[in-house]
Amino acid sequence: MSELKGALIGCGFFAINQMHAWNDVDGARIVAICDRDPARLKVVGEQFGIDRRYGDGEALFADGGFDFVDIATTVESHRALVEMAARHKVPAICQKPFAKTLSDARIMVETCRKAGVALMVHENFRWQTPIQAVRKALEVGAIGTPFWGRISFRSGYDVFSGQPYLAEGERFIIEDLGIHALDIARYILGDVSAVTARTKRVNQKIKGEDVATILLDHKNGATSVVDVSYATKLSTEPFPETLVEIDGSEGTIRLTQGYGLKVTNAQGTTTTNVSPKLLPWASRPWHNIQESVYAIQQHWVDQLKRGMEHSTSGADNLRTFALVEGAYESAATGQTIDVGAML
Ligand code: NAD
Repeated sequence: MSELKGALIGCGFFAINQMHAWNDVDGARIVAICDRDPARLKVVGEQFGIDRRYGDGEALFADGGFDFVDIATTVESHRALVEMAARHKVPAICQKPFAKTLSDARIMVETCRKAGVALMVHENFRWQTPIQAVRKALEVGAIGTPFWGRISFRSGYDVFSGQPYLAEGERFIIEDLGIHALDIARYILGDVSAVTARTKRVNQKIKGEDVATILLDHKNGATSVVDVSYATKLSTEPFPETLVEIDGSEGTIRLTQGYGLKVTNAQGTTTTNVSPKLLPWASRPWHNIQESVYAIQQHWVDQLKRGMEHSTSGADNLRTFALVEGAYESAATGQTIDVGAML
């Protein structure tokens, strides 16, 4: 199949990474961009040499001439833009968080299914090199059957200067960052039957919660803890590393700060450096996330060309999104939430 043509909607903070990654992806390129903010449209259009520029999604789709759309706007517009793509029979990538509510997300998946178009959520954390390395170690049976895990992201990094909207929502860390850690938990230990959560707001200048501790009961009997914080001041700032601990019947896996992967089993302990590549356009400390953006976008193109389902398809992401909703419900009520009943 010849090179796919894409259109990107939303030329904000994170879209710059997506545009750089599209330049690197094999088999696709961006031919049109759209943003309702003319200043942002101009900056991205000039930086990446894109002449076809639109201030509104309907005008972009009406002109057409592209094979897929990459929706990089914030959550408020996701449902309307995904539905627009489905109406025009255009496969769509949608940034996380997928939707405002689980019922919206379900409708988006169903609308794309009926239209016969692929839908992938840009849930990139599972594509990080260190997370892929953890999964590989489990797949080759390095520690036997996993029975316990911890997925941890604790930081004091100022995310609010780059993304001011994060300080303004009623919901913050579970919806914005916990969503990634919950997805990693599913990716590593499988689907979840029940969720229990506790949250806190430490930074009084923001509206939502900035600390969450979540207990997951996995369907295979494993238990995991997903803990996330943007109120944790450490001697060496780990942002944006996700640390992982897995205990299995035959050994343990530890993904430690600084991208070390330690696997211990009857043969002893091996430590491997699983650092992400620093892509030419990337910058530390974001390079781990930036590399995963390239990886997920390449996966989008490869699977689209093969006509196969994406790892983080809309349908798959409903099961991650349910954990987000379940965690908020659990924190509000103090109860354990049955995830199966939500899906
Ligand atoms: P942003 O506010 O900087 O950019 C969003 C852009 O979309 C703005 O330029 C805005 O004008 C435009 N926009 C919004 N609605 C539109 C519409 N209906 N039509 C056209 N343009 C529209 O936000 P951001 O920080 O770039 O975040 C965008 C999304 O990316 C969020 O959902 C965020 O959660 C996600 N994000 C993901 C990661 C990741 O690692 N996957 C990291 C950061 C942000």
